[in-house]
Order: sequence, then structure tokens, then C-alpha cells
Amino acid sequence: MFKLHAKAHLPTLFGDFEIYVFDDDGDPSEHAVLVKGDVYNADSVPVRIHSECLTGDVFGSKRCDCREQLVKSLEMLSSMERGILIYLRQEGRGIGLKNKIKAYSLQENGFDTVEANLALGLPVDSRDYTFAINVLHYFGISRIKLMSNNPLKFQFLQENGIDVIERIPLITDPRPEDKFYLETKRNRMGHQL
Ligand SMILES: [Zn+2]
Repeated sequence: MFKLHAKAHLPTLFGDFEIYVFDDDGDPSEHAVLVKGDVYNADSVPVRIHSECLTGDVFGSKRCDCREQLVKSLEMLSSMERGILIYLRQEGRGIGLKNKIKAYSLQENGFDTVEANLALGLPVDSRDYTFAINVLHYFGISRIKLMSNNPLKFQFLQENGIDVIERIPLITDPRPEDKFYLETKRNRMGHQL
């Protein structure tokens, strides 16, 4: 059973949101959903599905562009009439923090992000967006504008009955430290950057 656990007002540096947490049988992850405005049964809702990146989101790591994407999403959502940020606690594209740091270590020895995961015997991307589908169903939303550069998310949502009517790109400025990472995402994982 997927059901609301609790919700509360959450004023942030980027604007005012409501934060929702849900109970989802079989999933112990404490995902978070930030909601701007009235989204119940709304059409064409802007949605950001962000996977947790402790090093980027919290510490401001320059190895990736996660924090810029998160900040940009929150800024954009707070300027919009309504919208949703679904924050999935699936660190390191689903491989967890320990494996992510091991992969970083390999990358310091010349592997790219895809090769490093493969060398560790891990999938390149093991993220699961089922929770996001459940959230959209909970709010009665079937048509969204997706804030993403990742084609896999589109495919997953479309295959699960969510109509993505528009892509809102999240363009961030590359830095020397994450240039190679972003190029790998574009060239090997089909991201539209
Ligand atoms: Zn990151």
C-alpha cells in the first residue's frame, strides 16, 4: 500500500513548499516530495525527479552537477504556480555511497563513470522511478512537464502511463572538475546537455 505518512509546511531558501513523506510497502527508503502550489488533479504539472547525491547536494561537490540541478529545479519550481520535486534517496545512481566513492577512486585512475561501475560489477544506472509514479498517481496527475536531461526517465514515465508533454531542460555551466563527467553522461548515457 502506498499512502501518505505525513506532510508539513517547508519554507526554504528557494521559496515555500509543502513536504510530503509516504509509506510504501517494501521500500524502506525515506524519499521526500516537495510540492509548490495546488497540484491535486492538475494538468501539465512541472515535475523534477531528483536522485540523492550526498556529495553534490549537501557538500557541494564539483565532481558532478547534481547540486546545480537541484538548486535550479527548486528556484524554477518556486517561481511557478505549481510543481513537484520528488527527491529519491537512491545515492550514486542507485549503487549507494560506499560504491560511489569506490567508483570515484577508480575514476582517479583513468576510468570514466560508466567503466568504473562496470569494473565494480555494478549496473551503470540502477535507479528506480516507481516511487515517482506512485506519487503522481497519489496526486491524480497523468500529464507532466519533466525537468530533466535524462532520456531513461522519459521512457520509464511514458511506459508507466505518465504522459510527458514537455521537457524542461536543466542547463548548468560545466566546470573543469565535472566536464569529463558531463561529457560521459552525454556521450555514453544519452543525456541531452
Ligand atoms: Zn552528484
